Amino acid sequence: MPDTTATTTLEQHLDETHEARLGSYKDFLRVPSISTLPQHAPDVRRAAEWLAETLTGAGLEHVEVAETGGHPVVYADWLHAEGAPTVLIYGHYDVQPVDPLDLWTSPPFEPVVEDGRMLARGAADDKGQVHAHAMAAQAILATRGAYPINVKYVFEGEEESSSVHLDEWLAANKDRLTADAAIISDTGFFEGNLPAITVSLRGMMYSQIDVVLSPVDLHSGGFGGAVQNPANALAQIIAAVKGPDGRIRIPGFYDAVVPLTEEERAALAALPFDEEAYRVATGVSALIGEVGYTPLERRATRPTLDVNGIWGGFQEEGAKTIIPAHAHAKVSCRLVAAQDPDDIFQKLCAFVAEIAPPGVDVTVQDLGGGRPTLTPVDHPVTRAAARALEATFGQAPVYIREGGSIPVAASFESILGLPVVLLGFSPPHDNAHAPDEWMALDNYEGAIRAIVRTFDEIGAADGAGAD
Ligand SMILES: [Zn+2]
Repeated sequence: MPDTTATTTLEQHLDETHEARLGSYKDFLRVPSISTLPQHAPDVRRAAEWLAETLTGAGLEHVEVAETGGHPVVYADWLHAEGAPTVLIYGHYDVQPVDPLDLWTSPPFEPVVEDGRMLARGAADDKGQVHAHAMAAQAILATRGAYPINVKYVFEGEEESSSVHLDEWLAANKDRLTADAAIISDTGFFEGNLPAITVSLRGMMYSQIDVVLSPVDLHSGGFGGAVQNPANALAQIIAAVKGPDGRIRIPGFYDAVVPLTEEERAALAALPFDEEAYRVATGVSALIGEVGYTPLERRATRPTLDVNGIWGGFQEEGAKTIIPAHAHAKVSCRLVAAQDPDDIFQKLCAFVAEIAPPGVDVTVQDLGGGRPTLTPVDHPVTRAAARALEATFGQAPVYIREGGSIPVAASFESILGLPVVLLGFSPPHDNAHAPDEWMALDNYEGAIRAIVRTFDEIGAADGAGAD
């Protein structure tokens, strides 16, 4: 059991240091650490150094601004809880660009607090969450002098620019990054600001289908009817890979899909998700998808196949009577556990080869991909985080599945072999990546307390105790 006296002292400390903490949060947000814009590279480094100094000041050890070949990773640890579990914590201190500037109520790098919200680029994604971790570290070490578990912090500076150097850095530092689990704090609460734990992310297989007839376009009068048309052939292929029922027809495509249990379906159905509001917000006339599944299930728990782009032949105004020389489509699949992007690509290639109409050359290129992730709801770290969220926010968390991908989650699984728990605190509709990004201060302050409690719960569950 966590020591309640120690927790009370820590709570008091957090209450007393609230103003100073907000000042520090604002200082961090003032650094325009936009990782994708080269002119901001010195700012990204300045944010890394600011963070490293703050972590050192908190009492963490082995603090390092680690070079990656791109923007640095900030590393820190505290490893004196002998016999207790080790948790690796991830967040990112870089931010998205801020344009269009004129849509911001106040300048993006001049943080202001208004109506209980911190308004600035990065307030939620992800500097607010990184700062909450730093402040949790500060509070723990200032009031207790020790963590209940071992912690290793990895704060990235390239998340918003594709994490180009992270995998290499993780692989090179594999030995010092050993842990029992990873906690990623870069997600948010559910609709209605319900505390949430994200249990799965979809992966990706991205390909391009090229259909080639001839070196140049042919006259449709002289050749039409006597040769294959690559655009028609491409349309046939695309029509064959996915049926009107939304089911993907590639043989073996669903083989590795972990089916939803009845319990999981019931839990998803119980979420406060308004399909009609979602439809209206999207601006579409109807929600369409795989038969037998709800929109919420389709967008996060089922794999997809979508044409992302298609071109070939005459594209200008007016009429031009040709048989196009070639036609192309970008085709991607969002994958769910435990589908493997390479395996799905091979299956797509085999099926396309089988159904390709005669008279044209059809090839499929692999444009990259990523693995899906799924962490069991009953994993000890997930359960510890759930208890901590409930104790902090007065409400048990909902378990959500994200339709998108966080590549670092798959990297932690595949490179470091760690189960990943996605414990994020940003409010829904926080305008991440958009003008007027904001963080609810209740979420931010709650995050600090929930992080401390999560560590206590992990330590207690392991029998190691808090202190
Ligand atoms: Zn983020």
